Amino acid sequence: MHDLLIIGGGINGAGIAADAAGRGLDVVLCEKADLASATSSSSTKLIHGGLRYLEFYEFGLVRKSLQEREVLTAAAQHIIRPLAFHIPQLPHSRNSWMIRAGLFLYDNLARRRRFASSRAINIDPEGPLNSAIRRGFEYWDAQVDDARLVVLNALQAKAMGASILTRTECTAANATDAGWRVNLHDSLRNTDNEIECRAIINATGPWVATLSELLSKKEAQHRIRLVKGSHIVVPRMHPGTQAFMLQHHDGRVIFVIPWLQKFTLIGTTEQEYQGDLNRVEISKEEISYLLRIVNLYFKKSILHSDVVYSYAGVRPLIGEEGQNATKVSRDYDLELETKPQPILSIYGGKVTTYRLLAEDALSKLQAIFPDMGPAWTKTAKLPGGDFDLPENLFKKLASEYAWLGPDLITRWLNSYGTLCFDILGDASGSGDLGVKFGQNLYQKEVDYLCRQEWAKTVDDILWRRSKLGFQFSPAERDSLSNYIEQSLPSN
Ligand SMILES: Cc1cc2nc3c(=O)[nH]c(=O)nc-3n(C[C@H](O)[C@H](O)[C@H](O)COP(=O)(O)OP(=O)(O)OC[C@H]3O[C@@H](n4cnc5c(N)ncnc54)[C@H](O)[C@@H]3O)c2cc1C
Repeated sequence: MHDLLIIGGGINGAGIAADAAGRGLDVVLCEKADLASATSSSSTKLIHGGLRYLEFYEFGLVRKSLQEREVLTAAAQHIIRPLAFHIPQLPHSRNSWMIRAGLFLYDNLARRRRFASSRAINIDPEGPLNSAIRRGFEYWDAQVDDARLVVLNALQAKAMGASILTRTECTAANATDAGWRVNLHDSLRNTDNEIECRAIINATGPWVATLSELLSKKEAQHRIRLVKGSHIVVPRMHPGTQAFMLQHHDGRVIFVIPWLQKFTLIGTTEQEYQGDLNRVEISKEEISYLLRIVNLYFKKSILHSDVVYSYAGVRPLIGEEGQNATKVSRDYDLELETKPQPILSIYGGKVTTYRLLAEDALSKLQAIFPDMGPAWTKTAKLPGGDFDLPENLFKKLASEYAWLGPDLITRWLNSYGTLCFDILGDASGSGDLGVKFGQNLYQKEVDYLCRQEWAKTVDDILWRRSKLGFQFSPAERDSLSNYIEQSLPSN
């Protein structure tokens, strides 16, 4: 009998799996699709305190998020990096005094080690913004590769003994005298397996209420509102490294963020959602909404035809229908039911607070697992994050593997950190990297991703483990797909 079955391989499920396994629990995590295939790869990709939550007096949430910003940036410098944000001021914007007060709080609610202070700035009329904009503010947050954060937590969980089962859906659970007997459906092999566990964690994000009803056979206790948020990606809009926070006429804010050297990520929208959770897509109206605000602030207009990619995700928000979704708290809530057997459901949350959420979840289970170890993740590095400075790691890789070239070293450093050394092993020249599938994706990396990081399809590799999807032609995709199917049939 396992101790804990965690259902859902988004950031919350993977984070709890790592924490629980590190405390000595026998953990199984099942994910019906790929790790991070839902909300956790569809975020704005920020590890942030949430400046705008201050308007709704969410001081507690902002403070703990700011504290986590420091903790996570230290744990995973390869995938989480500080990023400057400029807030340009237009006549419809919030009062400057209000922004100053907000930024003062943002700077001082938690101790800062890696993030500079905010300041008022003059906006260069020669820059990318509409030349009528002369003043603004600068503050700092961090950018994260959200999907890789999930995979790193799953790797950490695996290293501590957890079993991570992807393409495995929990389809039923029945209480026994000792815990739960659960049916897991493996969609790749089309098989069903039963496992037994002492307790269940429902970490299925937007599916939380549906699964809760399936498992406990009664209506979920919390009222959940599903709210869709969408992003567009356009060719890089400005050469600078800073992001922008734009204030929309409706009081919402839109982020314009440099992404992957050649692109700009713009989001997000907010719409009540009743559609299929497995097929969440941006609408034309949402694209227009995002373009409208960008075109108000930027000199160079962008059109629907400039959008090279888009994605959408759904937040499960706790709250009453009718309340403005922008004002609903982004904090999480945990609900433990002990009868007929223990099941803990996770409601809401942010990528930024996943580690704290995991600690809180395990505290709730303390009485069920009295012998489990203490909290440990606050000072632990995530896999690949055990280095001092990215520039020093770059130098080390460049001196030991000069033949990789700066582009590949940079991409690998930003994805794998020190895991690069595991991937490369005793490779001593580019011939040892094997077949090249396109861009700088070689067999060596693909083999590693399939064997160690649960990659099973082209999209797992091109969109979640890397972002090479932007640069792959249909023919290159096919060749990668054939390789995965033929060479690694049982991965
Ligand atoms: C548009 C948008 C922007 C955001 N931006 C940010 C941001 O910049 N910073 C931030 O901190 N937070 C952000 N968030 C919030 C953050 O993305 C979410 O809080 C977080 O990703 C939720 O993770 P999760 O693990 O709870 O859910 P998910 O990532 O959705 O994971 C749930 C998983 O459960 C699986 N599942 C469902 N049912 C079953 C089953 N029966 N069996 C097995 N598996 C199952 C699903 O396939 C899914 O992978 C944003 C959210 C949205 C929507």
